[in-house]
Amino acid sequence: MRGIIKAKGAILYDEHGGEYIDGIASWYTSMYGHCNAYILEKVQRQMEVLDQVVFSGFTHEPAIRLSEELIKILPPNQHKIFFSDNGSTATEVGIKMALQYHFNKGNQRKVLLAFEGGFHGDTFGAMSVSGLSVYNGPFEDYFIEVERIPTPTKDNVGDILKRLNSELELESIAGFIYEPLVQGAASMKMHDADGLNVILELLKKHQVLLIADEVMTGFGKTGKNFASDHIDVKPDIICMSKSLSAGLVPLAVTSCTQQIFDAFYSDEISKGLFHGHTYTANPLACVAALSGLELLQSEQIQKDIQRVIQSHKEFGLKISQHPKVATIRQCGIIFALDLNIKTERYGTLRNRLFNFFMEEGVFLRPLGNTIYILAPYIITNAQLSTIYESIERALDEVV
Ligand SMILES: *Cc1c(COP(=O)(O)O)cnc(C)c1O
Repeated sequence: MRGIIKAKGAILYDEHGGEYIDGIASWYTSMYGHCNAYILEKVQRQMEVLDQVVFSGFTHEPAIRLSEELIKILPPNQHKIFFSDNGSTATEVGIKMALQYHFNKGNQRKVLLAFEGGFHGDTFGAMSVSGLSVYNGPFEDYFIEVERIPTPTKDNVGDILKRLNSELELESIAGFIYEPLVQGAASMKMHDADGLNVILELLKKHQVLLIADEVMTGFGKTGKNFASDHIDVKPDIICMSKSLSAGLVPLAVTSCTQQIFDAFYSDEISKGLFHGHTYTANPLACVAALSGLELLQSEQIQKDIQRVIQSHKEFGLKISQHPKVATIRQCGIIFALDLNIKTERYGTLRNRLFNFFMEEGVFLRPLGNTIYILAPYIITNAQLSTIYESIERALDEVV
């Protein structure tokens, strides 16, 4: 276990003087660089004015401004923002919204639909819909009811639609939760946007609420603000966290349509969505998020995103020729390669690769036989080259 004592830009510094390029942006959070001076200054100013206040019966400017700014860049059908404080609660709220929406309307819809191999977090609702069962074994008896479908490929969409068509007749499915385009924890597995689109289209026709889990994909990583921007059928509910607050402090939001909001808005108290965390909409977190959104939309960061995308493309062309590489894939600034060998998700190869990269001053977290890069947008070309060269050396020396 290494003690990290400092971070700046794309670099982590450890207690022994070691320096590491943060090739996964500290789990996809610090996209504008660690200790970003612009964000720090804004948060510091906020810290001197209002640090924290109960977000129940009270509201505050940073939360209102953040809601307004988010609505501007979210898909146009998104009208309302619900605050919480991490990715698991963002999806938990999305799941509760979908279930209670139907409950409030008197519908008997209690089943959720999810993709195989998805990851949506560690709370009970989120675990229920997650398909990575290694994490969930002891708790499975307590889960809500979930149906699973495979992620779409060119070959299987027909079968998926056929199966859904017969299930949808039962009118039991309340919502479909999905990581659009890229399943992060499933080793950056990517699927077909057209295939996803026809699935969403069918579900929408049958009043199944669409819950996009954009906790990982949100805020520019796919080359657009949201992965849902690549897909015609828009979600009813969107879950966001991770880089929402620019890697500074935890924050999450779940957005929804006016139609969903209206199903909860009532004089009957039992129709309300009772989900509030103590630090919900913390003002410092909101200001970090506002500053992050400003940066995301700046010309500089948009240029950086295109630069990283192009750089990965060139590396992909080269590395895909390597005999030890089975496949490569890329979506925006997310790049992954699968090695030409079979191994366990947490097998020894993964550890040997991790240690090799760290010795080379590169922080990557291979999963099974997948090596992926999801670096901060502000990573320099030289730092990108260091990561690429390190991967090439690993293929020759470790694999
Ligand atoms: C990380 C992640 C979560 C969980 O977020 P936490 O903040 O770790 O609770 C949920 N969904 C997706 C897609 C994620 O990548």
